[in-house]
Amino acid sequence: MPLSNSSILDSREVEGIAEYRSQLHAWLDAHADELEPRYAPPATLDDQIAQMQRVKSILFEAGWMRFGWPERVGGWGGAPVLRTELGAAISERDLVNPGLFSLVEVLAPTLIDFASPELAAEVVPRLLAGTEMWCQGFSEPNSGSDLASLGCRATPDGDAETASRWVINGQKVWTSLAQYSERCVLLTRTGPGDSRHRGITAFFVDMNTPGITVRPLEMINGMHEFAEVFFDDVAVPAGRMLGPLNGGWGVAMSILPYERSSCFWQRIAYLYARLQKLLDVAPDDDRTAEVVGEVFVQLHALRARSRATQRRLAAGETLGAETSIEKVLLSTVEQALYDAARRLLPGVLEMDDGAAAEEWRTEYLYSRAATIYGGTAEVQRGIIARRLLDLGSDQ
Ligand SMILES: Cc1cc2nc3c(=O)[nH]c(=O)nc-3n(C[C@H](O)[C@H](O)[C@H](O)COP(=O)(O)OP(=O)(O)OC[C@H]3O[C@@H](n4cnc5c(N)ncnc54)[C@H](O)[C@@H]3O)c2cc1C
Repeated sequence: MPLSNSSILDSREVEGIAEYRSQLHAWLDAHADELEPRYAPPATLDDQIAQMQRVKSILFEAGWMRFGWPERVGGWGGAPVLRTELGAAISERDLVNPGLFSLVEVLAPTLIDFASPELAAEVVPRLLAGTEMWCQGFSEPNSGSDLASLGCRATPDGDAETASRWVINGQKVWTSLAQYSERCVLLTRTGPGDSRHRGITAFFVDMNTPGITVRPLEMINGMHEFAEVFFDDVAVPAGRMLGPLNGGWGVAMSILPYERSSCFWQRIAYLYARLQKLLDVAPDDDRTAEVVGEVFVQLHALRARSRATQRRLAAGETLGAETSIEKVLLSTVEQALYDAARRLLPGVLEMDDGAAAEEWRTEYLYSRAATIYGGTAEVQRGIIARRLLDLGSDQ
């Protein structure tokens, strides 16, 4: 029996969602040939990006990439959860690499919420339509978990309140897809060195601005998915400031609801599909049933929690520290799934040179990063302990 992956909301909660869902799947079935070739790890990153952008452009042209986005940025309106439905549908069908695709969900809302309406209207459709890529320049060599300590500095050309441009100097690291990106949502220090979260400002920077150097970094699976980015007297127009001066912390924090809701739901859909794939190739015996069953229970618990989060978000509630639980559950089950593959396909991940083995190996290695990106497991557990279980203060 196939592992089921039911939907988030029903028609009692969002009007027309059942209709949307059935039309979406019917359209994806009808256009399966046009959407080929699918995302098939490992592939090269160049291939994965080209494939994703092609799929995005087809989906934008057909309208599916527009549902759930505001009309003022080229969308067709409707509940944001429609975007989540699309992300899950194309992830479980292997139409995109869900990790790469989720950057849309992380970065487009930031522009919509914090850029000038003119800028958002100009650039967001390009991201949705797959004609541009953007990256997120937050982490620095000495500021990852402790993001408030970041040091990449933006200096006004004149008085801070009236400057026409800002000059940026410093370094970012682990910037996913920087080498493919036309733009970057960048956090900079604009207050005194010790101003922490009160002295950070966000900018939307064109990656072809003189003074930017991108050096891709190789990950354990051989991919160059992220990069170091150096800023050497990079001049950025003041109109590219996102949110108010020294309001960058609010910009960074606003990403959380999107990252921890729709991105997670897409990833969960993908993990269900991968678990199904494992079930299809593993020996048909009691051990497989036990190992797959353990992962299925974890995945099911995560999905139940994630569904409750989506519903809260759809009802207008604010998300907070409790989403750290989902982050811990997601990274735990992602690693458990690929550990299960290693247990049920002995020697395959380690020794086999075939394409299927290479696929499992690439994803197994990538799954090790799940306890790092988007907030490390240790830091999430600290948040759970202090803020949810009241086991001590934050500092
Ligand atoms: C695949 C991948 C993609 C990424 N993409 C991006 C991106 O696009 N843009 C971007 O800005 N960043 C990106 N990152 C960076 C990511 O956000 C950071 O790696 C993460 O925030 C951790 O920061 P760090 O690497 O500096 O580790 P550190 O913060 O230096 O942590 C080192 C270790 O110390 C532990 N630790 C730190 N503080 C505490 C604490 N208070 N309590 C307990 N333990 C603690 C951590 O858990 C970790 O084990 C990416 C990372 C990965 C792996």
